[in-house]
Amino acid sequence: NSQSPLSDIQHGRLEINKTSTPKKLPALETLKFGHNFTDHMLVIPWNSSQGWGTPEIKPYGPLSLDPSSTVFHYAQCIFEGLKAYRNKKGKVTLFRPDLNMARMNLSAHRLALPTFNGAAFLDLIKELVRLERHWIPQENGHSLYIRPVMIGTQNTIGISPPDSALLFVICSPVGPYYPDGFKPVALHGTTEYVRAYPGGTGAYKIGANYAPGVFPQKQAAKSGYVQNLWLSGPEHNLTEVGTMNLFVVFRQEDGTLELVTPPLDGMILPGVTRDSILSLARSHAAGTLRLPNLTSKLVISERGVTMKEVCDAVQSGRLVEMFGAGTAAIVSPINRIGYQGKDIEIPVEDNGMGPVSRPIWADLVARQTGEVESDWSVV
Ligand code: PMP
Repeated sequence: NSQSPLSDIQHGRLEINKTSTPKKLPALETLKFGHNFTDHMLVIPWNSSQGWGTPEIKPYGPLSLDPSSTVFHYAQCIFEGLKAYRNKKGKVTLFRPDLNMARMNLSAHRLALPTFNGAAFLDLIKELVRLERHWIPQENGHSLYIRPVMIGTQNTIGISPPDSALLFVICSPVGPYYPDGFKPVALHGTTEYVRAYPGGTGAYKIGANYAPGVFPQKQAAKSGYVQNLWLSGPEHNLTEVGTMNLFVVFRQEDGTLELVTPPLDGMILPGVTRDSILSLARSHAAGTLRLPNLTSKLVISERGVTMKEVCDAVQSGRLVEMFGAGTAAIVSPINRIGYQGKDIEIPVEDNGMGPVSRPIWADLVARQTGEVESDWSVV
């Protein structure tokens, strides 16, 4: 092969062009999720003849794209979401960012977009976060939301792997998801729309999975529900909640608590929070980690759950709690499901959470902020 190999992303080639007009930092109480952006962004172009080009950190601002760019027509768009936390000692950390890099490469592969060296891309993201660290609030529950995106930018109206693409990263300071304490949400058990299906793209973080969910969410809101509980197949299997993974806790006959989440069968996004919750719960069950106030025996299952099982368990008093899990809210308790014209009441404790979610949430947050030492927290 006479062609030279294509370049991968290289940290050493980074160029930094700082803004001459830094913005005023927003007042913390005005922060609304995803509404404020920092001074700079990271941009890395790719083309099929040379591979990944020069990474640049430059002032945050509009992208200039040809109207024929494939992203506008065929949704050639993938993204990620992770947070940088600043702990009480002023140390800035990322939470398991390697998983976001790996997931983004899986999404890229699925959409025939270029893959990349995740470690090199992560080093560049760290450069951006270092430059923007004064944007990260230190207050409890605050963080810097980091949004990496890749789009296909080929200027032809044709569906094919694009011959050019753009990878970019923007950052947004965010406050706590529940500023006034945990507020359980009501869900619409959705059977009239599907989020994902066997052989589809539900397991990938691609823009095309999200646009079709907005209308069903609006419909659910009209009927007084906050989010869709996405059900799948003739048995109405529970899959995800809005844009979060789903957990259910059942009490078994002998008093053992079973923490259940649907398996990664191609229809579920492999969430970083999902994986972390499973891992903490398994450590507790194995006796290598002690989650406070969780005295019942705990078993952990990745298995299918149907609405029939949920309804039966509510009836017999064996449903202990239900919650969504994701980077934005971390844990989101559920108190009601509208299903086939009836409302099913899901138990929640006075503090808005449940006996399994609360200690797991507390442990997870302590690791994210670096209060508890953890390999998951990357300085
Ligand atoms: N499911 C969907 C559909 C999502 O968009 C997200 C958010 N990325 C999650 C689950 C939770 O994933 P994570 O814990 O990695 O944020």
